[in-house]
Amino acid sequence: MWRSLYLDLSAKKARWEGVPSEEVAWGGRYRTAKLLWEREAYRFDPLSPENPLVFAIGPLAGTGFSNANRTSVGTRSPLTLGIKEANGGGTFGYALGQLKVAHLVLEGQSPEWVVVRLTKEGEVFFDPAEGLLGLGNFEAARRLFAAYGERIAFALLGPVGEYLGLLSGIAFSDIDGRPSRLAARGGVGAVMGAKRVKAIVVEVPGKVEVWDKPKVLEGVRRYAKLLREDPLVMQFYNAIGTMGMADFQNAFGGLPVRNFRQGQMSPPEAFRMGGQYIAPLNRARGGKHTHACMPGCVIQCSNVIVDEKGEEVVSPLEYETIGLLGTNCGLSDPDQLARLNRLANDLGIDTIETGASLALYMEKGLADWGDYAFMEAKLKSLYAPSEEARLLAQGTARLGEALGVKRIPVIKRQAISAYDPRVVEATGITMMVTAQGADHTAGNAPRLETRAMKPEEILEASYQAQVNAAANDSLGLCVFGGSVTNKQVAFIVESINAALGTHLTPAFWQALGEGVLRLEHRFNHQAGFTHEDDRLPAFFYEEPVPPKNYTARFRPEDLAPLYARLHGEG
Ligand code: SF4
Repeated sequence: MWRSLYLDLSAKKARWEGVPSEEVAWGGRYRTAKLLWEREAYRFDPLSPENPLVFAIGPLAGTGFSNANRTSVGTRSPLTLGIKEANGGGTFGYALGQLKVAHLVLEGQSPEWVVVRLTKEGEVFFDPAEGLLGLGNFEAARRLFAAYGERIAFALLGPVGEYLGLLSGIAFSDIDGRPSRLAARGGVGAVMGAKRVKAIVVEVPGKVEVWDKPKVLEGVRRYAKLLREDPLVMQFYNAIGTMGMADFQNAFGGLPVRNFRQGQMSPPEAFRMGGQYIAPLNRARGGKHTHACMPGCVIQCSNVIVDEKGEEVVSPLEYETIGLLGTNCGLSDPDQLARLNRLANDLGIDTIETGASLALYMEKGLADWGDYAFMEAKLKSLYAPSEEARLLAQGTARLGEALGVKRIPVIKRQAISAYDPRVVEATGITMMVTAQGADHTAGNAPRLETRAMKPEEILEASYQAQVNAAANDSLGLCVFGGSVTNKQVAFIVESINAALGTHLTPAFWQALGEGVLRLEHRFNHQAGFTHEDDRLPAFFYEEPVPPKNYTARFRPEDLAPLYARLHGEG
């Protein structure tokens, strides 16, 4: 029997409710949006006790189904003030799935810092968190394992979240116990900090019950086979990982370089910040380039980056980090970037928002582009809540205003991801219109050459990418399997029916994706957002970005048909 768990932190009480199987299928991002809508969270200050923090998984979590254990974190964002869903991989969703906890909701505010602990038997404890406060995530994780044993999964808040810094995400344990799989965006960590929850620890049962075990096992095998036969999965995600996107965008002209002043860092043959350079170097040093963040994932896009002595520096190093914390700050040395990434993971912060913020100091002339020592010092300052730390920790939009910088690359106060919207236009449109604030994961089409396409075709590409992303996010599926899942909807729905005993039809996929988008847009409308909030910053319309020298073509007034569909009117 699936259940949901509501934790009243103010009273330190747990409440269980049964969840019908059909509702479990409407999980992940859909569940977070639905719950936030029903609670009218748009009426509340995001850092007030009334704003819920929701953790929701998909219907296949806890099974061996590849890449199906992502955890959606939903809340009203203190960064954007709109709705927020940030999801992460790792083992937390796997553990919740085995415990049959479809969603877990933090309500109220604890009088003192706590570690919430959920046992295999379903008991809930609110343990004291002293001994963990102020620690970086790696030391905090070590202490959690020491206190609770090795067979746990956790969601952990870093030191920046403790003082409500808006750069802060929530770190999930990975398959080897690293606190490195972040639900990073939108300041979700600050909401957990406002509730005074340092960590949620869940015991992992190690087995799961499903409705039709033979059929689920057959589905697990078939999905793994389909993934292994898919060229994009094997030749891109498995072979190189997301860092291959850096090579592509550098050549395509859509890579953010020096606060979005250029779309290419160097000619492709001299480029050292992509997978073509990093992957062979890392393998030669003894690092890993096929690594699964969660049990069962056959895509294994993740990596373990080591230094010249073969010692682990960070896992994983991803494209978005390369783009924003790397090239956008003018860095050209991947070893320096790996060290900064490690620090960011220890702080539990969003590398996109952090990189976009650090670039603003350089934009202002307070540091040179690529000044590694400056970046490292700024990140180290974030461990304690000094005035300097609080200025940086509030995120790109607010920092840019405080510094008096004109070129601030944000939409709805959230930093633009590593796809220059002048060049990667369909993703740019998604980042403009999504209720999430600038977020490529809401509907990415990173390889689409759009200049030869009709505007309505580009809008359609963005819309379909958004529907598919929302459906995947709601099912706990990692979007890197999208080249299979988006084309195998009938099979995915059949697998869900086998796991839950439901009778969903393939039409469920589109209804689920569109249902998410409508809920999110209605939420933001109630929160006071208008289409004007979707406009790109002025410099994207005014400055051509080399080497293609494109300016942005799409303004909110060009997107009316897309708005109608997102609101459910088209
Ligand atoms: S594809 Fe990569 S990010 Fe996605 S679940 Fe697998 S290892 Fe994790």
